[in-house]
Amino acid sequence: MKSNLSGMTLTSQKGNMEMSNDREPNNTVCKYCGSRSYGKSCPFGPEGLHVHTPDGHHCIYCGSTAVGYGCPHNPNRQRPTHEK
Ligand SMILES: [Zn+2]
Ligand SMILES: [Zn+2]
Repeated sequence: MKSNLSGMTLTSQKGNMEMSNDREPNNTVCKYCGSRSYGKSCPFGPEGLHVHTPDGHHCIYCGSTAVGYGCPHNPNRQRPTHEK
């Protein structure tokens, strides 16, 4: 017995999904020192924390495009959300 089912390829065409793009250009800078750095190395920010201006895509504290809880640099320890 011979089966010819080996040529099946899974090609699902869902169009161009560009919703979750982690490689978005991040041109924001710290509003205190103008650096592109994140985290606690700011010479002028509160508690030495870089705080970027919100661009709607990147977290102002860590620069991540993630949403929700889990920001490593948010000074609010009760609710360490990514702020945008
Ligand atoms: Zn800074
Ligand atoms: Zn964050």
